[in-house]
Amino acid sequence: MTELVDTFGRAHRDLRISLTDRCSLRCTYCMPAEGVPWLPGPTLLSTEEIERITRVAVGLGVTEVRLTGGEPLLRPDVVDVVRRIAALEGRDGPVEVSLTTNALRLPALAGPLRDAGLARVNVSLDTLDRERFATLTRRDRLPDTLAGIAAADAVGMAPIKINAVAMRDVNDDEVVALTRFAVDRGYEMRFIEQMPLDAGHTWDRTAMVTQAEILERLRGAFTLTEVPGRGSAPAERWYVDGGPATVGVIASVTAPFCGACDRVRLTADGQLRSCLFARTETDLRTLLREGADDDALAEAFRTTLAGKKAGHGIDDPGFLQPDRPMSAIGG
Ligand code: SAM
Ligand code: SF4
Repeated sequence: MTELVDTFGRAHRDLRISLTDRCSLRCTYCMPAEGVPWLPGPTLLSTEEIERITRVAVGLGVTEVRLTGGEPLLRPDVVDVVRRIAALEGRDGPVEVSLTTNALRLPALAGPLRDAGLARVNVSLDTLDRERFATLTRRDRLPDTLAGIAAADAVGMAPIKINAVAMRDVNDDEVVALTRFAVDRGYEMRFIEQMPLDAGHTWDRTAMVTQAEILERLRGAFTLTEVPGRGSAPAERWYVDGGPATVGVIASVTAPFCGACDRVRLTADGQLRSCLFARTETDLRTLLREGADDDALAEAFRTTLAGKKAGHGIDDPGFLQPDRPMSAIGG
């Protein structure tokens, strides 16, 4: 089988698909209050187009698919998309499908998604304080997010991962409380260093809460012991008070894990990206709609990966934030 190995020897097994750039929240680090100019409807890939591109990727060695956005649960066909992708056979068996979500629609969709073959969910939850949540996401929806997490738990999706972007003077004082919330319920807590991907271009490295700071706060409340065997996972993990619960940090900025990256991304409008921070994209949608066969699509995957850079370059003097915000790339 021809594989998606780039010029640095990294084999790509993980395809992240953005199902939509729209969202039901307006997290300050992701979208401006008024939203962003949405992708025009006809440019969005159809259910069949997503399935076809994914099948080609699976033929090239992809074994895991993560659905994201924007908010992937806003897509009316999300259950059908999961069912079709989960039915694909990869080199190691059925493709593993997971989803990153704000959980608002999980009370209605957790059961159907599980039945369709969804293996896991990652839920974004930056605070446990209702007022803060309303300020941070610009929507008063904390009870709905909590209900969504409980719904995923109730249908047996495990492990549930809770993601929080740590922000100075916004939620950095909640690192311990969020971890307790997760540990008490058997979820895995993961903190994310904020990255320069907001639509408003307001990211400031000096204000960013680093992995070192997060760990310092955690060590004030828990005993942390490193979990060995990280592989290509973005989160470095620690056992909390001897385990089995763990807490992770995704230190994309202060401890980049680009050397082990196995991810490739497809935007909701059918553009293939070799990295969150890539400055170029490959237009699979046009190829597909002009009648390209699977071999031509596979070649487009290989060409895109051949151009993948060694790292995201956030620290390079010439670093340029990608033109698309996170919500339009797929986090
Ligand atoms: N709406 C879904 C959600 O919030 O989980 C999926 C899309 S969201 C873009 C995916 C992840 O990216 C979330 O965990 C979110 O916190 C994270 N994210 C968004 N903007 C970010 C930024 N500037 N830096 C770091 N993480 C960010
Ligand atoms: Fe929406 Fe997720 Fe972005 Fe928040 S982080 S605005 S929930 S896409």
